[in-house]
Amino acid sequence: LEEQIRSLQTSTPRKYQKVKYLNYKNRKRILITGGAGFVGSHLVDDLMVQGHEVIVVDNFFTGRKRNVEHWLGHENFELIHHDIVNPLFIEIDEIYHLASPASPPHYMYNPVKTIKTNTMGTINVLGLAKRVMAKVLIASTSEVYGDPTVHPQPETYWGHVNPIGPRACYDEGKRVSETLSYAYAKQEKVQVRVARIFNTYGPRMHMNDGRVVSNFILQALRNETITVYGNGKQTRSFQYVSDLVDGLIALMSSNYTQPVNLGNPVEQTIGEFAQIIKKQVGGPSVIRQTKAMEDDPQRRKPDITRARQYLQWEPKVPLETGLQRTIAYFRNELARSDRFQES
Ligand code: NAD
Ligand code: UDP
Ligand code: UDP
Repeated sequence: LEEQIRSLQTSTPRKYQKVKYLNYKNRKRILITGGAGFVGSHLVDDLMVQGHEVIVVDNFFTGRKRNVEHWLGHENFELIHHDIVNPLFIEIDEIYHLASPASPPHYMYNPVKTIKTNTMGTINVLGLAKRVMAKVLIASTSEVYGDPTVHPQPETYWGHVNPIGPRACYDEGKRVSETLSYAYAKQEKVQVRVARIFNTYGPRMHMNDGRVVSNFILQALRNETITVYGNGKQTRSFQYVSDLVDGLIALMSSNYTQPVNLGNPVEQTIGEFAQIIKKQVGGPSVIRQTKAMEDDPQRRKPDITRARQYLQWEPKVPLETGLQRTIAYFRNELARSDRFQES
């Protein structure tokens, strides 16, 4: 028994073995707000494997401990339950500010809270960055372009947002978040990076997320009706999460300070996308048009010239491959929730 205990105390658990060892000089203390969410948890994985110290701050509104549980107990990892609307005092070198609900049903659920998170929360993050002289990356969104009148959308386009519509709490919240970043950069010399993220999908999306990728895959897996909102002629361009994470890390380490679009420029109509999912999942689901969403952006596709030029970045994962991995993930999740119900 003594032998066994000693070996437990000295051996590295298998799940941690791929983590690199970085010496003190190269190892950064990195804060990820919203790090227990879908995108944040994948970013945690990459930065942990690179050997950095990662501190996640999350209020678990849409995020889950389960997304980062494989790091609990690792000496480089820390998980803090905290709402970013309240001040936060810690010592760090870099901040990825991802805390904010991201799917329309979630950000519309409590619009006032969405605005507070994106304004007061961002002020706290920038105030923290100012005090400890940390570099900050803000997760902005293609929603700053609203229902765009320019196609595809370059970063120089100022957007077309309804300031009092149902999406305004998120769109305008993110626009203020960007404005705050450049105000702190100018006035307080905070180093800021702004990523305008386009529709992203992959494993660890929440089952009740309500976004189109998870809705269509779950409907197809459950042999339910696939619900297309409106006539299905509206378009989106879908990026796989590992491509986004590569882009975020490249942007943080670059010297480029203007906003950068991160997205996959391959564009689909939502009607076509429903067909793609139905075919890839298989099964008897029928596709049906339902009520259109108010203020739904009609066309969306990123112009990624900037990211190509300044970050040497472009997406690598084709839709079919990304969807395969995502469908496998949701299949597993469904089996898991069935097991829970049985027991
Ligand atoms: P998500 O909902 O999975 O993650 C957001 C995380 O932030 C969750 O863990 C949530 O609990 C946390 N959070 C929310 N409010 C908070 C608060 N007040 N204090 C602390 N934590 C809080 O969403 P995601 O898809 O991972 O999005 C991450 C970021 O990327 C968001 O800022 C979102 O606006 C942005 N973004 C995402 C997409 C996309 O397609 N996924 C597109 C554009 C922008
Ligand atoms: N703040 C924080 N952590 C810090 C430093 C500041 O949460 O380490 C918060 C602080 O509470 C304030 C906000 O960030 O509400 C903005 O800080 P700033 O220094 O810009 O403004 P001030 O404190 O002068 O109002
Ligand atoms: N959508 C749909 N059915 C769904 C969910 C979404 O047709 O079950 C449509 C939605 O109207 C929008 C597109 O799919 O045109 C993308 O919606 P999502 O909520 O994923 O993200 P958005 O880009 O609108 O933030």
